[in-house]
Amino acid sequence: MRGTTVSEQRSVDDHLRRVLSDLRVPEPIELALLDAQGLLCAEDVLAEAPLPGFDNSQMDGYAVRAADTAGATAEEPVELPVVGDIPAGSRAPRGVTRGLSLRIMTGAPMPAGADAVVPVEWTDRGVARVRIDRPAEPGLYIRRTGEDIRSGELAVRAGTPIGPAQVGLLAAVGRERVLVRPRPRVVVLSTGSELVDVGRRPGPGEILDSNSYALAAAARDAGAEVYRAGIVPDDHARLLAVLEGQLLRADLIVTSGGVSQGAYDVVKEALGELGTVEFVSVAMQPGQPQGFGTLGDNGTPIFCLPGNPVSSLVSFEIFVRPAIRLMLGKRHLVRRTVTATALRSLSSPPARRQYRRGLLHREADGKYSVEPVGGAGSHLLAGLAQANCLIVIDEEVSEVSEGDQVTVIPLLLASA
Ligand code: AMP
Ligand code: MG
Repeated sequence: MRGTTVSEQRSVDDHLRRVLSDLRVPEPIELALLDAQGLLCAEDVLAEAPLPGFDNSQMDGYAVRAADTAGATAEEPVELPVVGDIPAGSRAPRGVTRGLSLRIMTGAPMPAGADAVVPVEWTDRGVARVRIDRPAEPGLYIRRTGEDIRSGELAVRAGTPIGPAQVGLLAAVGRERVLVRPRPRVVVLSTGSELVDVGRRPGPGEILDSNSYALAAAARDAGAEVYRAGIVPDDHARLLAVLEGQLLRADLIVTSGGVSQGAYDVVKEALGELGTVEFVSVAMQPGQPQGFGTLGDNGTPIFCLPGNPVSSLVSFEIFVRPAIRLMLGKRHLVRRTVTATALRSLSSPPARRQYRRGLLHREADGKYSVEPVGGAGSHLLAGLAQANCLIVIDEEVSEVSEGDQVTVIPLLLASA
């Protein structure tokens, strides 16, 4: 993206479109199974062997020839000699010949000659001889080779999210490693000469840096691998030096602060000069000033978010989270919204899309209602911490009346 500082008002949708069209999905990498959890599979994984790998027993019971159990009843059980045991893991079980049985455990290989497993529940659990009180059909309680997946069949398709069942299946078909879409490495840094790191006592005029923590948490939540690069003062040269150093490990950089119209808005000054990062005014509240572009030889994408804590987190939600999801190879980039009944009236600035912190409730009838929490000020972080959603008030709407339907972005649907 080329361009210098411009002051056009750009819509949220337009800015998001431009941001997303500038991003690349990183090349797949091979990871060990458990490291692949939560990522998208990037190859079609075929089963190299069938599952199950051999015919085996589905029950603890007795391997028999079904014909030998014909006519068995509780009153007149069939009695068969038990000529041995087949535990799970047994390598070469002896076979069953007519009129005999073998005690067999769940998962143990079926012996040659047997065509059914009589479960222990149908027997007297005999060890030397067993009494069977129901007839078995051929095939009873046998798990057949390849009935789960045949050799050469598709086990996990490229694009599938790897969750616990996929991890299990990959292990079951013998895969220790799998090609996946990697987590983008996101470097987060805060700019501002007033900032000190948590754990230190702020001096006069200083404040604790909350953005690098909040943004790092948000990036991790979105699926990124996060590096919190900490605080950079409002100093042109220092900023460029830190960014230069971070380019080595970053797939994406997120900064906060220094993008407004102030005299010390160093991010905008320093990066605006490079010509690869564009600073625009987006028709939204909070989060109006936005910077986006690329840095370095590899064209590493960088988001320069405004410094107010709510502005930076809302900007992250609207622009950076979809970007991280795109880089993860995901198809659904933005959160699903719900429609809710407003429990209070709300006003919003004209021609800007407003994101208000809200509390979303699910009513007994399954419908949603929502009420604002905290004020609209973009420094009100505690209000955001109480909220579980953002209420979206569109550009063309400036008044919402109680009872109106509004669009809501649920943020934390998991209950405590
Ligand atoms: P700026 O965008 O740099 O003009 O900052 C806007 C407001 O956000 C100022 O009140 C800053 O002190 C505050 N702010 C900037 N960066 C941070 C941060 N990392 N943590 C908390 N507040 C911040
Ligand atoms: Mg600042």
